[in-house]
Amino acid sequence: MIFHIDMDAFFASVEQLDNPELRGLPVIIGKGTRGVVSAASYEARWFGVHSAMPVMQARKLCPHGIFLSGRMHRYAEISRQVMALFEEIAPVVEPASIDEAYLDVAGLGRLYGPPLEIAVMIQQRVREEIDLSCAIGGAPVKFLAKIASDMKKPGGITIIEEHDVSEVLRTLPIGKIPGVGGRTATTLARLGIVHAGDMARQSDAFWERHLGKWGLELAKKARGEDRSRVNPSRERKSVSAEHTLSRDTADRDVLCTHLLTQAERVGHGLRRRGFAGRTVTLKLKFADFTNLTRSETVSHPLCATDTIYSTAKSLFDKIELSRPVRLIGVGVSNFNGPAQQLTLLPDERQSRHDRLVQLDHAVDAIQEKYGRDIMGRARAKNRSDSE
Ligand SMILES: [Mg+2]
Repeated sequence: MIFHIDMDAFFASVEQLDNPELRGLPVIIGKGTRGVVSAASYEARWFGVHSAMPVMQARKLCPHGIFLSGRMHRYAEISRQVMALFEEIAPVVEPASIDEAYLDVAGLGRLYGPPLEIAVMIQQRVREEIDLSCAIGGAPVKFLAKIASDMKKPGGITIIEEHDVSEVLRTLPIGKIPGVGGRTATTLARLGIVHAGDMARQSDAFWERHLGKWGLELAKKARGEDRSRVNPSRERKSVSAEHTLSRDTADRDVLCTHLLTQAERVGHGLRRRGFAGRTVTLKLKFADFTNLTRSETVSHPLCATDTIYSTAKSLFDKIELSRPVRLIGVGVSNFNGPAQQLTLLPDERQSRHDRLVQLDHAVDAIQEKYGRDIMGRARAKNRSDSE
């Protein structure tokens, strides 16, 4: 039995937790005129507000809503507490996002009783120890556990036992299976597939013909087969930062300033986790919503802000800006173990990088203690002042 646990309206709930006067009120995380809603309390959802909706639209639907800009470091902190609690309860926990996790609870029966009782106990502990609520789904396979947790929100428990699986799939809208969207959904609709169970009408070969490898995989899921395990060692594969500009622009200076701010954030994220990576990726989204990414892989893993910035900038310099840019982002991937374990190569570039990292660590420490505004590269600071 696998559980999928999803915290209810997580960011908004943390705000209500820290500010009791916000409880019972429509809290919306998302500010500015061009941003999107990243979370909405259930009180706000009654007005039709939901995450990923433009903030402007949320303001129209819920003019008296409380709009907050969000405090990621606080959400990450509570997330760590939640995950630590899950790890106390179950031996195998896979954090799936900041507010979701899979738990393998197969071995917990003798200790805590049947799945429903385990779920009730988990909800109770989350409420008592962290003062938040969550929805829990349980199923013999992973993707069904995720679907189950979505069935009774907020605060519900849905357990799909082995003998219920085929009945659940018979009436499960096919679009509920993770990954079914866009072209797959269109193809399936054209073939008259409404429910997951409908896929059984055709052979695996038929699905492979129509949807390729993914068709085979999907046909298996539609039968309730999913061999993926709860994987506690799921590691972070990249650290990135991106920013939607308040106004589309093709001004290289403005864009480079954003790039530097992002290089700082990415560098800080890498150093805090003890990571260094060899691939730097630059991402641009244009005003017409087309995307462009460019990557460069360097010989030595890097985590210094200046090196990330200069690598990203050299990628940026090679791009011709024929349209205004809407979003700019930078990421580092291709990790090579903790930065501290790297052998120092007698190489000028490497030793320069290591000196930069030492400087960065000092800045990180000051910023962690006094906040990000106190210190920062002058250029990045000027930008935040003028915004
Ligand atoms: Mg959630």
